[in-house]
Amino acid sequence: MDALLRTLFQSFAKSQSVGRMARRYGLRFGAGRFVAGETIEGAIDAVRALNATGREATLDHLGEFVSTEAEAELSTRMCLKTLDAIADAGVKANLSLKLTSLGLGISEQICLNNLTTILNRARLHGLFVRIDMEDFAQCEKTISLYKRLREQIDNVGIVIQAYLYRSLDDIEELKSLKPNLRLVKGAYKESPTVAYPAKPDVDENFKRLISTHLKNGGYAAIATHDSQIIDYAQQTIQELAVPPDRYEFQMLYGIREDLQLTLVHEGYRVRVYVPFGSDWFGYFMRRLAERPANVWFVLKNLFK
Ligand code: FAD
Repeated sequence: MDALLRTLFQSFAKSQSVGRMARRYGLRFGAGRFVAGETIEGAIDAVRALNATGREATLDHLGEFVSTEAEAELSTRMCLKTLDAIADAGVKANLSLKLTSLGLGISEQICLNNLTTILNRARLHGLFVRIDMEDFAQCEKTISLYKRLREQIDNVGIVIQAYLYRSLDDIEELKSLKPNLRLVKGAYKESPTVAYPAKPDVDENFKRLISTHLKNGGYAAIATHDSQIIDYAQQTIQELAVPPDRYEFQMLYGIREDLQLTLVHEGYRVRVYVPFGSDWFGYFMRRLAERPANVWFVLKNLFK
């Protein structure tokens, strides 16, 4: 049953028409637990609340897979506005974005131009930008674009997904760039020809990625709610005597708040991924796919 629901939510996540239909119901049916509202102001308020409890944030203006240049420009403008809002508010946050929202699916050059504009604005404000990793079809393009940029710019990082067979090789190949990598399990529906289908294999690979990247000397953002992986990371950090300015833990807004606060109290740097905006549907469906038990939460909210 769980596997069926997972596949269903993963398919919904990609469906524009289901997304349009669902958005008509607004945030009422549960997305509000995972999304910090539709406006920048609401998102900045959420970041203030996180900062007040010792957590930092990364803001993501939701949006993906745009198909016109005008839409890509609009997403770019929203990223610029978000960076300005972070700087104006003086909150502890940086920016996460998706390359398909900047036009990666239209042309790599359009995407690169938009991303460069964003990175320049971020640099003006002294802010960091993380490129999220999307489905496998974007992986090679995203990594090669990152490599080109990283040679000239240092306020940019990328994400590596533990479910992909290629990820350990990617980490080794990126080593010389001393990259800032967010390590995650991976949230998209992928073919077993490119990704481990079984969770224990993903978890083992996640551990390999953590130790390899920490040994290689880059910055590690360990992004998971899985206590076993977090324990493993803490042990490895201790064994390798990795200094605190070379790693942080990251979790998603609305998930395992108890664990986020425990890590803060233990003295770890914790960053929460705070998504906001009207295009919340695909993100929301991926959160349901990760944990089909969340569907009860949605059903309860449908009738509120
Ligand atoms: P799991 O084994 O899935 O979960 C461990 C425990 O966490 C569960 O038992 C449960 O208690 C809790 N939990 C996990 N998910 C949920 C949920 N949805 N609702 C309620 N409880 C839950 N993926 C990408 O593909 N690309 C990215 O760029 C990307 N960026 C991310 C950024 C951050 C900061 C984080 C935390 C995740 C990101 N992800 C990204 C998602 C990631 O790939 C996983 O899908 C997600 O984190 C769930 O896996 P997990 O590591 O928490 O482990």
